[in-house]
Formats: sequence, C-alpha cells, structure tokens
Amino acid sequence: MKEQNISIVGSGLVGSLLAIYMAKRGHNVHVFDRRPDIRKMKVVQGKSINLAMSDRGWKGLEGAGIRKEIEKVALPMYGRLMHGMDSSLTYQPYGKEGQAIYSVSRGLLNQTLLNCASELPNVSFHFNHKCADVQLEHKKVVFEDNGEEKEYAYDRLLGTDGAFSAVRNRMMRLDRFNYSQSYLSHGYKELEIPANADGSHQMRKDCLHIWPRGEFMMIALPNPDGSFTCTLFMAFEGAVSFEKIKNPDDVHAFFNQYFPDAKALMPELIDDYFNHPTSSLVMVKCLPWNVGGDVCLLGDAAHAIVPFYGQGMNCGFEDCWEMNKILDETHEDWDMAFDQFSRERKPNGDAVLELALRNYIEMRDKTADPQFLLQKKIENWFSTQHPDKWLPLYSQVTFSDIPYHQALQNGLRQDEIMKEVLAIPDIEEVWNTPLVENKILSLL
Ligand SMILES: Cc1cc2nc3c(=O)[nH]c(=O)nc-3n(C[C@H](O)[C@H](O)[C@H](O)COP(=O)(O)OP(=O)(O)OC[C@H]3O[C@@H](n4cnc5c(N)ncnc54)[C@H](O)[C@@H]3O)c2cc1C
Repeated sequence: MKEQNISIVGSGLVGSLLAIYMAKRGHNVHVFDRRPDIRKMKVVQGKSINLAMSDRGWKGLEGAGIRKEIEKVALPMYGRLMHGMDSSLTYQPYGKEGQAIYSVSRGLLNQTLLNCASELPNVSFHFNHKCADVQLEHKKVVFEDNGEEKEYAYDRLLGTDGAFSAVRNRMMRLDRFNYSQSYLSHGYKELEIPANADGSHQMRKDCLHIWPRGEFMMIALPNPDGSFTCTLFMAFEGAVSFEKIKNPDDVHAFFNQYFPDAKALMPELIDDYFNHPTSSLVMVKCLPWNVGGDVCLLGDAAHAIVPFYGQGMNCGFEDCWEMNKILDETHEDWDMAFDQFSRERKPNGDAVLELALRNYIEMRDKTADPQFLLQKKIENWFSTQHPDKWLPLYSQVTFSDIPYHQALQNGLRQDEIMKEVLAIPDIEEVWNTPLVENKILSLL
C-alpha cells in the first residue's frame, strides 16, 4: 500500500495512540500539538486526574501492541463502594469475579503513549503548534508557532484535537455539516485524599468509591502513590450547588453534612477546594466525521461525551482500533475507509453519550436506592445462571466490545423486563428462586 504523509492534530490520548497505529501501517506520521511536550513539563506522577480504563481501551492498546506498557501503571478496581450519609459502606462488584476496570493517571498514560510513539522511526512530533486553519482544497494544515504561521502539506489529516477541535471548526464551514454542542448544568472539581505517612492508601484501593447524594455525587479513584483523586460533580447553580459554596465555612458545613467520612481524610480540603477550578462538562455531536478520504475526526473531536460511564477515552481508543480494521478491510482505499468509519461509528458515538447521561443518574441517585441494588443483584444472579441469555448493561459497555448502540438497545429491553420482575410480590425474599428465573425466561 502506498506510503502516506499523515498529519495528526492533537497528541492527547487518542492522537498519540493513533500515531502508533498509522506508523505501524508504514506511513510517515507527523503529530502536532498546541501544548509543549508534556514529558518535559513538571507534573507530579500520580497526582494528575485519573481515568477508568476498561475492555475497549485495552483492546485499542493491544491492537497497537502496547497493552503491557500501560498495565504496569494501572490499578484494578473490582467494584463500586458506596459511602452512605451515615458513613455506611455498600459494595457492588462491577462484573464477574476477577473482572475490573483500571485506574490510570491521565498524565502518565499520555506520557507513556508519547514514549511508545517516539520509539517508531516514522513518527515526528511538533509541539507548540496550534492548529489555526485547514486549507482543505490545498490539503495543507496551518499552525501558529510563536506568532508565525507555518503550513504543512498532508495526504491524510486526522483530527484528534479534542472537544474544541480546530479541525472540526474548519469542517463546520462545509455545506451540510451537522454540529451541536451543549453543556451539562453540572460541573466538577478535583480534590484529593492523600496517602498515609507510609505511602499506603487510606481507603480500599481495589474499588471505585462513590458518595451518591441524589442530585450530586463525589467519586474517588486510587493512585499508585497511595493517594486518591476525588471528583465532586454538582450543579453550578441551585439549592445545593457550587455557587452556594463561597468560603471555608461553607465548605466545612457542606462536607460535614454530605461527606463526613471523606472529609476526615482530606487535610488539604479547603486549599484544594479554592485552588482547583470548577470545570464544565461539554457534549459535542457532529456528522459527517470525514471530508472524503482527506480528513477524519476521531476521539473527543468527533464525539465529546460526559464522563459518567468512564468511556470517553475508551471509545476514542476503540475508534483507533476500528479505523485500523477498516483500513485493512478496504485495502487503504481512504475515501471508502473514512466514509465507512464515519457511518459505522457515529451511531456508537451517539449511544455512548446517551449511556453516559443515563449513568450519571444511576451513579449519583440510584446507587443509593435499595430497589436498584436489588435489580442489579437479580441481574447478576440470572446472568450467572444464563450467561448466554443475559449480560448486564454495565458489562456490555465495560467488559465487552458489543457496539455501544446495540448495548443501549439491549439495556432498554432489560430495564423493561426488570420492571416486571421487581413488581413480583415479595421480590426481596424470592429474588433468587425458580419463580423469578422462569419469569425472566418467559419475558426474554
Ligand atoms: C472529569 C473527566 C473524567 C473522565 N474520566 C474518564 C474515564 O474514567 N474513562 C474514560 O474513558 N474517559 C474519561 N474521560 C474522557 C477522556 O478524558 C476523553 O475522552 C479523552 O481525553 C479524549 O481524548 P482525545 O485525545 O480525543 O482528546 P484530548 O485528551 O482532549 O486531547 C486533545 C489534544 O489536542 C490538543 N489540541 C487541542 N486543540 C488544538 C489545536 N488547535 N492545535 C493543536 N493541538 C490542539 C490538546 O492540547 C490535546 O493534547 C473523562 C473526562 C473528564 C473531563
């Protein structure tokens, strides 16, 4: 297949993985980023925000031959541990025994991906290059570098420049390009639970901690250095909201009321609260994701979603895997490949956004609801009896590569069935009996 000059805009998680895929296909790859090289920036390892990696992410890494590198820095989380208002704890496994999602530091992951890509002789990085424009008709991409404009010619341009993509901005000026952007009314703030003096974790490190509080929640993911990164998700405005917390007294009162057990583990809470930004959560949809065989968007540039299923990066890594597969299938007919990628991936991008929005309600509200916990218990039990007939939605999304849009449909159907099951008299007592088993079988 003919060697191509491939420009990738964005050396974030998706761009750096994509560079490896493209280089391993034998192409000449140039990766540009507006930031300096993050490997040379002073970041304290393990202190940056962390992400949950699941099967689709691992599949993307494995396809590029670098799974082992990332496994070294990933901590398994086998379930959710819910912290009640009274500091009670309820554990819920994520999947079957041994199945886990993995906490990975975003900074460390990105650095490792950049290192892996840099080892390949046909990948060049250009940092401090901010994409300002794309001359689609001349197949050139324009960057700002210290006030100067520089142009680079490409055969193929891949836009992995995130939710506020400059490549996508240029595509928006094309006829019949569909685009929508909206913000969630909730934002988030990162906080920290530090390690014990001996470097051990102050809470269980093998699970994702959740403090579900109805309209808002806090989560905590473990870091290898013994600390936890906590994220408080809450409305910007309203009765309980970021705008209502104005001074240290407000922070003390709020955390004493809603998160007393966590507060006891957060000596720097006040400083962290006021020094860390309150960030917004944006959702982006667009179509098509390509301009013929010349340009294609992947990752958040194509589908920015809210983080509540922990799938944004996973979906982006799966994008890379899919693109590579489609390039194989089409023998690198780039027009056909980019069209097929956009057509086939778009319904999945839409579905994973829908799933993530639904999971926010589930995490912040339903994980504290005994009916919901019972439903999950019945689903897990039935799934163990009939693994070929029932895979819980969470497992479909997290521990399988069933297309997201199919998983969403399956999940809606399962919810209908479970509504009828939960209506069975005394279901709390008979949940694991033949009566319930036969009821589900009859409804399937
Ligand atoms: C709070 C939070 C928690 C999350 N948790 C999870 C999780 O647990 N699991 C999960 O799978 N996902 C999670 N995500 C989502 C995940 O972070 C994103 O989906 C992922 O980072 C997308 O990768 P990307 O490479 O497409 O974009 P980005 O990571 O945003 O990278 C874009 C890159 O493009 C560069 N760039 C931008 N504009 C330009 C320009 N004009 N010119 C040149 N370069 C440019 C940027 O500097 C950056 O390096 C979370 C997101 C948030 C906000």
